[in-house]
Amino acid sequence: MGILQLRGVTVGYGSTTVIDHLDWAVGTTRSPVTALLGPSGCGKSTLLRAIAGLEPLIAGTVEWDGHDLSHVPVHRRDFGVVFQDGQLFSGRTVGQNIAYGLRLRRWPRAAIAARVADMLELVQLPGSADRRVTDLSGGQAQRVALARALAPRPRLLLLDEPLAALDARLREELAFAIGDIVRAADTPTVVVTHDRAEAALLADEVSVMRDGAIVQTAPPAHLWQRP
Ligand code: ADP
Ligand code: ADP
Repeated sequence: MGILQLRGVTVGYGSTTVIDHLDWAVGTTRSPVTALLGPSGCGKSTLLRAIAGLEPLIAGTVEWDGHDLSHVPVHRRDFGVVFQDGQLFSGRTVGQNIAYGLRLRRWPRAAIAARVADMLELVQLPGSADRRVTDLSGGQAQRVALARALAPRPRLLLLDEPLAALDARLREELAFAIGDIVRAADTPTVVVTHDRAEAALLADEVSVMRDGAIVQTAPPAHLWQRP
């Protein structure tokens, strides 16, 4: 499965340090889905973006299976990323969105078509390749964003509050679906959330974050920290 290891990771904005010498390992236990849980503003997104390579490190290293990725650019890390609002390309079809990363990687045309169809099955939107993304509901758009992120077979999937833009009913439905989808894709996943119930629904293991530090890591049923 692979291990993500952070050592002494320090990240900040200007003169403000948000994360100070953080050590964290994901994938050391057999936990395909890890939630990063904590109150708004504690530094979860900053950490996720640093792992993805979207925020520069002031100090420390991000390693995958012992290889330092700190200076590997975003698109070469082979991590999939989904943000709160999905950020689909709105002028394109569902299929074109899912194919995007495969085209960049120069997959052959037939392999792309097959992979797009498989991904649409996986996220339970079969036959939707020709739909316009502007016609999708919020929950469907997030499923397509997941399909796009998973299509190139990333070694790690990073989800930043993937349910935050949805209403309560859809949120619960998609929480279960995301768990099923990433397990079916066999892709280790880190999901950022401020919602303890959501973490419990989604994740096998929860790391609780407070003021830029991880204060506890445990299965959802064994958490003692109030996030
Ligand atoms: P969380 O994801 O837990 O809500 P964030 O990582 O978004 O927390 O934010 C952590 C801290 O960093 C907050 O104090 C926030 O205001 C600050 N911060 C986040 N992004 C920026 C930015 N682009 N510029 C300056 N400060 C930022
Ligand atoms: P062709 O048969 O046209 O030569 P290949 O099947 O060899 O094409 O694939 C071409 C490129 O597409 C490869 O370099 C590979 O990186 C990528 N590719 C194709 N299928 C996969 C796959 N299942 N997983 C990862 N990369 C793939």
